[in-house]
Amino acid sequence: MAQDSNFIDYVKIYCRSGRGGRGSTHMHRAKYLPKGGPDGGNGGRGGHVILRGNRNYWTLLHLRYDRHIHAEHGGNGSKSKSTGKQGADKYIDVPCGTAVYDAETGEFICEVTQHEQEVILLKGGRGGLGNFNFATPTNKAPRYAQPGEPMQERAVILELKLLADVGLVGFPNAGKSTLVNALSSAKPKIGNYPFTTLEPSLGIVPYRDSRSFVIADIPGIIEGASEGRGLGLRFLRHIERNSLLLFMVPADTEDIKHEYEVLLNELAQFNPELLDKGRVLAITKCDLLGQDEELLQMLKEGLPDDVQVVFISAVAQQGLQELKDILWKEMNSESNKIAAINTSESIIRATKTFAYLDDFADDEEGWGDEEDIDEDEIEFLDEDEIEDLDDEEFEYTD
Ligand code: GDP
Ligand code: MG
Repeated sequence: MAQDSNFIDYVKIYCRSGRGGRGSTHMHRAKYLPKGGPDGGNGGRGGHVILRGNRNYWTLLHLRYDRHIHAEHGGNGSKSKSTGKQGADKYIDVPCGTAVYDAETGEFICEVTQHEQEVILLKGGRGGLGNFNFATPTNKAPRYAQPGEPMQERAVILELKLLADVGLVGFPNAGKSTLVNALSSAKPKIGNYPFTTLEPSLGIVPYRDSRSFVIADIPGIIEGASEGRGLGLRFLRHIERNSLLLFMVPADTEDIKHEYEVLLNELAQFNPELLDKGRVLAITKCDLLGQDEELLQMLKEGLPDDVQVVFISAVAQQGLQELKDILWKEMNSESNKIAAINTSESIIRATKTFAYLDDFADDEEGWGDEEDIDEDEIEFLDEDEIEDLDDEEFEYTD
């Protein structure tokens, strides 16, 4: 099993669009009109499979229980030129920030980044034309009609990238874990993390008006342990899209500006693109300064001047509201705004995100059975009749 397949932020689903309904070969009959013409209607379009961004979803968990996704088939045409029913489209709601790949080839297919953005993943087959379309002066009563277009099937992998909104960056003992604990209303459990004793930790931070955001302490980026680096890389996936990094340097650090620069440098070595993200610097453990104004003044003079600075103490609960305000403001000043969502919901969802899945592996069930077609209802064409049809000449219904 691939290591990356263990999270619910990564799920494989089987999708199938609806096939187009057949055109009908019905002949009109009436008492007074013994040889009525062809009046077989067109088939209806099969349903599309459509991905839709939904900011109320934070994980792909809901798809775990519904991995076979089928849109409805189009209805067959019938007498009196009636067009078959259009197969219902099937919507797959996904969190904003979901990337879609072909499960067999790994090929990137599309990405859903915006709330209510819709992407047709699989098109439903167009309906076939009924026989009345094919009546000609020489063949007034064609006994053939066009079959509907076939359905499409595809196994795809959905991968959620947006997870944490704020990534914490600091040397060991900077106070990262303590801050996550102090700010969070919930700490999603990350079970059985296979690599290392370094524990990545996520926290859901409640914000004003029942909004919330997610902060992540990502070990291994700075700590530099080789095992941790792997972990950091993997976790980085979860901050790829977040707009903000919170640097953390303790107040009792001799040269704060220098330490900040070292952190920046480490980050650049790890992945230079990280420097494009918004940055805030928190001076942690400010309770250690006590009431010493002189000390505080000295400290303030030695700060970097190209980054917004906030003084906090997780232990004394100082500066935390200000920190949250700054983070929120910075997050929302970015183009990639995070969704304001209901707090309690996000807690459940984020918690579940990191619940471990043991049975993801490779799903051997494969495609679901094709059913829900009553063969008796279909007016099949003979093989040679179908061959006689030149599809190029037909226009499909939409
Ligand atoms: P991490 O390695 O960055 O996760 O740092 P921790 O959160 O584990 O904190 C390292 C040490 O600093 C622990 O002993 C904490 O108790 C202490 N610490 C963290 N935050 C504060 C704070 O605001 N004030 C004080 N005085 N100590 C703190
Ligand atoms: Mg820690």
